[in-house]
Amino acid sequence: MAMSIPKPPAALTANDRPLVLVVEDEPDLADALLGYLRHAGYRSAHAADGLAALRLFYADPPAVVLLDLMLPGLSGFEVLRTLRQSGSAGHKTPVLVLTARASEGDVLDGFAYGADDYVTKPFRPREVMARLRALLRRSQPPQTCLEGVAGLVLDPARHQAHLGGQVLELTKSEFELLASFLRAPGRVFRRQELLDARSDLDSDALERTVDAHIRNLRRKLGANHAIETVYGVGYRYGE
Ligand code: CA
Repeated sequence: MAMSIPKPPAALTANDRPLVLVVEDEPDLADALLGYLRHAGYRSAHAADGLAALRLFYADPPAVVLLDLMLPGLSGFEVLRTLRQSGSAGHKTPVLVLTARASEGDVLDGFAYGADDYVTKPFRPREVMARLRALLRRSQPPQTCLEGVAGLVLDPARHQAHLGGQVLELTKSEFELLASFLRAPGRVFRRQELLDARSDLDSDALERTVDAHIRNLRRKLGANHAIETVYGVGYRYGE
């Protein structure tokens, strides 16, 4: 008889999470970044030197690269230059440079080589995550309207919501939570991911705030709210 293999929760297998390539040779720093990325719901890959970075990049092109400049062997500048060569798959991939070299010249060199943004070490992981989200947002194609069940329509460009043809008044946080759901119907979101999806980045909001927003959203959307609680994990929309 075939053994049934227990399936991990959907939140752990969802393939629609952005892949982040972390290029960092300091093990502690790399571990901290990878932990933060995992916690925020990103997929990640790690390279400890420049050549490994390029190999990983071309094997599975990431949505964004966190790139240390001072690397053994091939430097971060060289990695960046290679990625930016025309015709390369990395031609347009956002790159966030992590540098201990805080001098203005080095930062300008980074931009000259094609970096999109930089943070200087020592950095707060929260700041890195905020910059990363901003880069991902900027690299996304223009948004179109999102549709849910029972005539729910969100227009992210205008920040307007309609339910059954009627204007639906939502707070900024409620709007962004709902938009996250509508972009990935049926996907399970952990509370922390839903917090990270919000653009009011400085908020130290607790996961419990997500629960409060969800309560409000269900009330506003009515009986067909379609927001399902996934116990011990988070929430899911529709299906
Ligand atoms: Ca380094």
